[in-house]
Amino acid sequence: MSLKNIGDLTPDELEEYLIARGEKSFRAKQIFKWVHTGAESYDLMTDISLKLREELKKEFMIFIPSICKKYVSEDGTVKYLLKLSDNHLIETVVMDYKHGKSICISSQVGCRMGCSFCASTLSGLVRSLTPFEMEGQIIRAEKDLGTRISSVVIMGIGEPFDNYDNLLKFLKNVNSSDGLSLGLRHITVSTCGLADKIDALAKENIPVNLAISLHAPSDEKRKQIMPVAKAYPLDILMKSCDNYFEKTHRRITFEYALISGKNSSKEDAKALSALLRGKNCHVNIIPVNPVRERDNSEVSPEDTENFKKLLERGGINATVRRRLGSDINASCGQLRNKEMNKS
Ligand code: SAH
Repeated sequence: MSLKNIGDLTPDELEEYLIARGEKSFRAKQIFKWVHTGAESYDLMTDISLKLREELKKEFMIFIPSICKKYVSEDGTVKYLLKLSDNHLIETVVMDYKHGKSICISSQVGCRMGCSFCASTLSGLVRSLTPFEMEGQIIRAEKDLGTRISSVVIMGIGEPFDNYDNLLKFLKNVNSSDGLSLGLRHITVSTCGLADKIDALAKENIPVNLAISLHAPSDEKRKQIMPVAKAYPLDILMKSCDNYFEKTHRRITFEYALISGKNSSKEDAKALSALLRGKNCHVNIIPVNPVRERDNSEVSPEDTENFKKLLERGGINATVRRRLGSDINASCGQLRNKEMNKS
């Protein structure tokens, strides 16, 4: 059996562990700092006694996902296929924006949500990522690129709210001033709409940004492309979003991938405007990325622009997401599938 990863411990858990071994509590801070700023060996921890380092080595591994493949796009987007300690693969993308670098990380190996247009869910869920496997994607990319990453979106492979407890630990650890010290307003959690978990997060006092993968303006249409809509109808989901906004005052983003013939008509735009009217929100229109195994084709740039105009006319803020890294298969799930299909 492999050792537990020391990075998966929260500051409190690490402190508890060390105090139980007769160590002073400030040691926890020191070790947390080493681990969460990228030390990959206990030998680097020169301010920790050799004896304690030897003890830690026996009980905990320090593992940060390793780079299996790296692709650099003409637009500066970098995509990593990363390998976990049990050899499973995940994807991580770093995007270069004017305001700094943003990273899109995975939360699970595979996904069990079954959205009809998505490549990540094609082979189902293998397992959830631990807190440090999520954070390790950021640390690995920062080390590789030799630069700080200023914002994080949890929008890669997996459904973060299907891995709720580890997500919370991840958020606490990356926000810690002894670790990556990432501000909560620079972190966005994207969900296909697990409303009960939105309610739970609203109670946590961890006010991160929320993105909801909406993709259709009615339950009827949503159920056709997102099985999760059967469990969480729109009235429930919208109530949870309103509640999240009331508690956190973070403006919610609704993701809307335009799929030809499925959700992209004028009527859909009008229904979407009606659904979101009066909410402090933003719609991110995404030209769908056609996935080979899926029956989804994109909408022309003109129709995409018209869809946006209809939303704006309906009083809804909307932007069309720029497609970054399309020359390197930067959309989630595509690279892992390709690699798996080889073997
Ligand atoms: N499970 C979470 C996060 C991962 S998916 C969620 O559903 O939000 C990240 C985003 O990419 C979601 O908005 C998802 O719906 C979208 N997406 C998935 N496949 C896509 C595709 N082929 N083209 C465009 N967007 C896609």
